[in-house]
Amino acid sequence: MNIHEYQAKAILRKFGVPVPDGHVCYNGASAREWAKRLGEGPWVVKAQIHAGGRGKGGGVKLAKSASEVQLIARDMLGMTLRTHQTGPEGKVVHRVLVENGCNIARELYVSLVVDRNSSKVAVMASTEGGMDIEEVAAKTPEKIFTETIDPLVGLTQFQGRKIAFSLGLEGKQVGKAVKMLEALYTTFIACDCAMLEVNPLVVTAEGELLALDAKFGFDDNALFRHLQIGDMRDFDEEDPNEIEASQHDLSYISLTGNIGCLVNGAGLAMATMDIIKHYGGDPANFLDVGGGATIERVTEAFKIILSDRNVEGILVNIFGGIMKCDVIATGVIQAARQVALKVPLVVRLEGTNVEKGKELLAQSGLDIVAADGMADAAQKIVMAVSAKGGRA
Ligand code: GDP
Ligand code: MN
Repeated sequence: MNIHEYQAKAILRKFGVPVPDGHVCYNGASAREWAKRLGEGPWVVKAQIHAGGRGKGGGVKLAKSASEVQLIARDMLGMTLRTHQTGPEGKVVHRVLVENGCNIARELYVSLVVDRNSSKVAVMASTEGGMDIEEVAAKTPEKIFTETIDPLVGLTQFQGRKIAFSLGLEGKQVGKAVKMLEALYTTFIACDCAMLEVNPLVVTAEGELLALDAKFGFDDNALFRHLQIGDMRDFDEEDPNEIEASQHDLSYISLTGNIGCLVNGAGLAMATMDIIKHYGGDPANFLDVGGGATIERVTEAFKIILSDRNVEGILVNIFGGIMKCDVIATGVIQAARQVALKVPLVVRLEGTNVEKGKELLAQSGLDIVAADGMADAAQKIVMAVSAKGGRA
């Protein structure tokens, strides 16, 4: 799960990480009032969307007077912001952050991620703040400094100083950086983060260190421990199909192809996508109905897949282990009837009661293509979809 910058800054503030004072606003008039309450100006008005690159896309603007804050906020709210992270369709701005501006002397980069290779949290730091870190990593990887943290010891002062030196900090700023890094690490652990990025972390003309932008990624499996973070979820920022799916405990990710996939188990889902690709097809989604694929869930899964207008055919690939194949077949038949299926449907079943399952499908009178094995199933659905010759 992701959250907005203003929410991220509220969390950081709570853990003692210095951030500028600011407030989220939903209309121009309140932006103006909040600007006056926050200080003397200048202020920065920042579009709140779940995507970076806002600076270059016109989503971060400086205002010298409270009425300018109002005008900028009014224009920004409701606009479709396009950045290199939103894709060409962009994202509509529903909230803006009005914040006290600061005098930037240097822009640095710091992030914490779970490093799977070392099974530890890694702190990454770079003097190239304000830029896309992917670009820095590709062009000048020597400018990224990495330090891994021992989970039992935590981030030590020694490591904090090492990171501060790598950022070219000196004198009093070193101590400030160490404190900030410790606070960031505490935040990361306390909130069960998967990722925490501060870009830029700025050194002001007055010599203060501030987190000017912040991005969190949370471990969804730990969200039950953080109700307040869960409440920060903004459904406007998410794919409506993915929201619907999560309400039925289905793992669904929409992709760009035209073959809908209904599979049980994440590993089988990945293998199914691979084999579709292998035979020249393109999956429209990743959908894992899980181990307990009940009739209701299979029906919901069908509805979600079919609401994607790019879907021109569906491949059901299910291994009946705990869930028996005849139960799954019943679910597929019932779901196909309920949604009045109009696209080709290929079903591959394997496992417990597979014969009974196949029999049910054959007797259903529905236009279902039965397949034996993954390769056969993939070839059949790819053929069925290409035979249609695309959507009219
Ligand atoms: P992003 O482009 O979506 O990552 O948005 P950021 O919050 O990182 O802002 C982009 C850039 O705007 C920063 O790198 C800064 O250069 C600039 N910026 C943001 N806040 C301020 C501010 O308070 N004062 C000034 N002068 N520039 C700012
Ligand atoms: Mn940024």
